[in-house]
Amino acid sequence: MDLQFTPQELAFQQEVRRFLADKLTPQIVAATANNSSVFVEKDIALQWQAILVEQGWAVPQWPLEHGGTDWTPAQKYIFSRECYLAGAPMLIPLGLLMLAPVIMAFGSEEQKREYLPKILSGEHYWCQGYSEPGAGSDLASLKLKAESDGDDYILNGSKLWTTHAHLADHIFCLVRTASDGKPQQGISFLLVAMDSPGVSVTPILTMAGDHEVNQVFFDNVRVPKRNRIGEENRGWQYAKYLLEFERGGGFSAPRIQHELQRLCQLVASAREDIAGFDSSGDIARKLARMEIDLKALEITELRILSSVSGGGNPGPESSILKLNSTRLEQAINELSVDVLGYRGFPMNPVRDGSPDRADFTSSVVPRYLNNRAASIFGGSQEVQRSIIAKMVLGL
Ligand SMILES: Cc1cc2nc3c(=O)[nH]c(=O)nc-3n(C[C@H](O)[C@H](O)[C@H](O)COP(=O)(O)OP(=O)(O)OC[C@H]3O[C@@H](n4cnc5c(N)ncnc54)[C@H](O)[C@@H]3O)c2cc1C
Repeated sequence: MDLQFTPQELAFQQEVRRFLADKLTPQIVAATANNSSVFVEKDIALQWQAILVEQGWAVPQWPLEHGGTDWTPAQKYIFSRECYLAGAPMLIPLGLLMLAPVIMAFGSEEQKREYLPKILSGEHYWCQGYSEPGAGSDLASLKLKAESDGDDYILNGSKLWTTHAHLADHIFCLVRTASDGKPQQGISFLLVAMDSPGVSVTPILTMAGDHEVNQVFFDNVRVPKRNRIGEENRGWQYAKYLLEFERGGGFSAPRIQHELQRLCQLVASAREDIAGFDSSGDIARKLARMEIDLKALEITELRILSSVSGGGNPGPESSILKLNSTRLEQAINELSVDVLGYRGFPMNPVRDGSPDRADFTSSVVPRYLNNRAASIFGGSQEVQRSIIAKMVLGL
């Protein structure tokens, strides 16, 4: 899928390719290819982040004044596409692409000075404390209590499904600061250091055998009020703004294109190995459908990117991206497992570390299992459909 780029954009594409050939190490590419989780290993992501920071290319989406770029939407797209096609990992978005836009839009000048450089350098590694037991889709019913005590809040309660809480040194949390009125009205947005006395983390293992998610407990945790973003009880507004970036702040089409290419490699090798493979043409038809869906996704992402580059935020259309990118990615995962067939069987879904499985095929089954969760995290598919019905279609 080639868009028509201008000569300047093609020159930029060459510059990016030269940079990737020079700086993207085989170790980072191998770790990315073998990764089956939603994010690559923290140390690999941070290694790549440091290389990009040195080049000034870590967060093209950020404004120049905070260390971003002044690239056009097409340049941002080219950069993202070239990175994925070269096998580079996605940077962990929790601080860079989710919290940072909220701090830029609603944080104080002091908070911008304090947090943005540390998010960019990787010194601060963040996790997201939104969901709780009984508060997932119905997020506004969250209960983590923040009681006022002079210049501090005292936190009691817990957060659930917190990705990378065991690796993070900070968590951004939605907390309850008032219980009267509508549930949305009593929520505040708080930044908490994970080493604060009273914070503890319990692991949750997924069916893919990964340790990504956790439950985080808060037992009389004292947090300075100056760590609050924006106004007290206005956190719902900031939370929703963040979710738009979580669901539609980056490019998923180039990443999915890379996954589709790998599926095509599997199909090609199955054609060589198995007589009469896909004689019905069913797999070829599914691949063609995926190409078409990918093209539609790409155009939607470019449309949203133009709006963000013009100073806007992704808007409720980000739910369309979340819905369609998840559907497409899961379809690719499923077909990859189908195509591998019995050849996928010896690959233990809980990674067995077989030395002869160093190529990406060892991650196909674990990736399929891990990515089932994509239709739940960041807001379930049903919830995205409700948002589209209400906010995009006006139903
Ligand atoms: C792997 C993974 C990582 C996650 N990481 C994080 C994280 O880092 N931080 C964080 O805060 N949260 C995280 N989450 C939590 C995630 O956001 C929630 O799981 C999600 O919002 C759904 O909430 P729930 O699990 O409570 O399910 P529920 O809200 O109980 O939903 C259960 C089912 O009911 C359906 N449903 C619920 N309400 C409606 C409705 N109104 N209309 C139609 N159907 C509905 C849902 O679609 C779903 O199928 C993660 C989840 C997973 C699985």
